[in-house]
Amino acid sequence: MALIVQKYGGSSVRSTERIKRVAERVVATRGEGHDVVVVLSAMGDTTDRLLELARQVSDLPSPRELDMLLTSGERMANALAAMAIHSLGADACSLSGPQAGVITTSAYGKARIVDVTPRRVRQALDRGAIVLVAGFQGLSPETEDITTLGRGGSDTTAIALAAALKADVCEICTDVDGVYTADPRIVPEARRLEHITFESMEEMAASGAKVLALRSVEYARRCGVTVLVRSSCHTGPGTTVSGSADDDRGEHGDHGAITGVAHDVSCAKVAVTGVPDRPGTVARVFRAVADAGCEVDTAVQNVPGPAGGVRDITFLLPGDGAPAAVAALREIRAGTGFAEVHQDDDVAKVSVIGGGMRARPGATATFCEALAEAGVNIEIMSTSEIRISAVCRTARLHDAIRALHRAFGLDRTPGTTPDKTLDHTEAVPQT
Ligand code: ASP
Ligand code: MG
Repeated sequence: MALIVQKYGGSSVRSTERIKRVAERVVATRGEGHDVVVVLSAMGDTTDRLLELARQVSDLPSPRELDMLLTSGERMANALAAMAIHSLGADACSLSGPQAGVITTSAYGKARIVDVTPRRVRQALDRGAIVLVAGFQGLSPETEDITTLGRGGSDTTAIALAAALKADVCEICTDVDGVYTADPRIVPEARRLEHITFESMEEMAASGAKVLALRSVEYARRCGVTVLVRSSCHTGPGTTVSGSADDDRGEHGDHGAITGVAHDVSCAKVAVTGVPDRPGTVARVFRAVADAGCEVDTAVQNVPGPAGGVRDITFLLPGDGAPAAVAALREIRAGTGFAEVHQDDDVAKVSVIGGGMRARPGATATFCEALAEAGVNIEIMSTSEIRISAVCRTARLHDAIRALHRAFGLDRTPGTTPDKTLDHTEAVPQT
């Protein structure tokens, strides 16, 4: 008998029909003799709809009230699922994040889990119940307020609970049947990975792969929680996320290899031109962006003329944060003495990821040649030990992804069949 944490995303519980299906699956798992803790996201696009309601009553909703509002979505889904489980004759109890002992920092909208004290979860498990925990939320002891964990935060709830309960596995049940070498809707030749290390999964998530929220992967790595990404409808083997490339070179499949191609269309490119070339100016630019609450990615600067002249700084920002950052930059324009700020939303980032990059001389050349052959212009590029990324026009993104997938030998060998036929109508990204 094992202790299993199962998380279901918004699209897996988007209707009461879907909730009943999840209830059946959970009861079946319990019927096999396992203890089951379930974490559900809000139904379908509930979180987006709640955000829209907030916008209808206020231009600048209070972050505290936003969290009060948004956390109701997850509670609703979990309470409905508990009722559906009762109808199947099993014992179930739903808990809010605070009731389940999820303790967070006090930052509304982006709180981090600092501890989980799952006393009530254990009590309910001990009496034989299936426990449902509302994802994406916790309690800040400092403010005594309920908080949310940032979009996609239910993944982190599930992993943190699995760590605190010393669960045997944390299953992330979603609308794809695992982690793929690329989005299978864009690259039909993409393959499901049997296994991926925390390191590569973190890079994939940071580079835009939507299957797991980035913070949840960080949490899993820190606490050593084995994660199984699998379909919420089928019973396929899924993808195991565990281990690091360094601790087991032989067994873990993605070491020494290229893991996959990730992409991100939610970024915006911001260019600050004519920045005076003297110490301190660049710092002022990035301080303004940071104070506007934006995380900078892929920053480059060039010095076109002799030192002491001017230079341009270009970087990527999350698209939803860019307007605030650009406004903050315009405010410091006169004081810093740069010429202009441009925002360009028509960009996307494509990245090739894998521990094998280290051992692959010429990987950057291969990357650029593949994009050149596909006629994709590279606007910004950056590399790390296990990743190469390029920024291109959004319209060219799909060609870029397919070209890189082929060039790095990730295409499925012709003649073999896919692991699982994806239901493409259902394969909408999870929220
Ligand atoms: N419902 C929240 C969101 O849409 C959290 C989650 O789904 O994980 O981001
Ligand atoms: Mg998600």
